[in-house]
Amino acid sequence: MKLSVIIPCYNEEETVASLFSEMCEVFSSRGIEFNAVFVDDGSKDSTAQKLSEIASKSDHQVKVVYFSRNFGKEAAIYAGLQQADGEYTAIMDGDMQHPPAVVADMVDYLDSHPDTDCVTAVQNQRIEGCVLSFFKRSFYKIINRAASVEFVSGASDFRVFRRAMVDAILSISEYYRFSKGIFSYVGFNTHYMPYIARERGGGKTKWSFGKLFRYAMDGIIGYTTAPLKFLSLVGTLMSIASFIYLIFIVIKRLAFGDSVAGFATLASLILLLGGIQLLGLGIIGEYVGRNYVETKKRPIYIARKITDNRQNKKDSE
Ligand code: UDP
Ligand code: MG
Repeated sequence: MKLSVIIPCYNEEETVASLFSEMCEVFSSRGIEFNAVFVDDGSKDSTAQKLSEIASKSDHQVKVVYFSRNFGKEAAIYAGLQQADGEYTAIMDGDMQHPPAVVADMVDYLDSHPDTDCVTAVQNQRIEGCVLSFFKRSFYKIINRAASVEFVSGASDFRVFRRAMVDAILSISEYYRFSKGIFSYVGFNTHYMPYIARERGGGKTKWSFGKLFRYAMDGIIGYTTAPLKFLSLVGTLMSIASFIYLIFIVIKRLAFGDSVAGFATLASLILLLGGIQLLGLGIIGEYVGRNYVETKKRPIYIARKITDNRQNKKDSE
């Protein structure tokens, strides 16, 4: 098989069918032989039924992994990569924001560039609020300064890989999966191809500001120890400041005698230090907590059912 297309779907009943027919049209007109791997990430709407219908009607090979509950997009990508058996493997969203024509362009690029292992589509003009884009810019600044691998702004998981890179990604079986990090970590030659994302074909985005913030934290905590270094720095500065203040108090006491006043100073110092200590504990806790979950070696996802319309046809023959 030339190309396996992985599509993680969570509550995408409105778009999966039209996305699949667009894929069939585009890929056959460009002469690309493909199979599809849909992952139903525990959708609460009729996505699962829609996917079964697609699989039973299609002449193309369609595999569907049905998760037992919502495990998140990262887990869905992992499950899809496990099922992908093509020479090339593409990942695209199920909401029609990622045009199949771009996938075909990426495949053509790989065909004509044997030394490139991965083509990544980079969204070049995303219409976003200024608060969100400020946070995104800060995120890339922090993580690129602190992490040893490079994170490219706007480069998502809309990509096409060669087999070797898929195997490398699969060999990373950690529970907290941060795809952007994993893709940079495994290395390989990546080409960045600009594209313009479309509007969603229907349904609504699953990302809230809170979820994005957690995701950014996952990246920073998973790929850097910057927060821990930051803590050491704060601790050192606080100790130096306290020492200077201590000398100041002793001299004041010796020179001017006892003064009972100072309740405000004491109260604010206790509160400030208490706050900083709690913040520190929280940051350390994030690392320890992840360590705890990671050592349990829980599976990344649990599948209720995995189907393959080619297999079913063979079975019934
Ligand atoms: N998705 C998923 N599991 C989740 C959340 C999202 O599989 O828990 C899928 C979703 O169905 C879509 C893709 O991930 O195909 C991207 O999600 P979304 O469109 O909400 O993100 P955005 O495009 O807004 O960044
Ligand atoms: Mg989307």
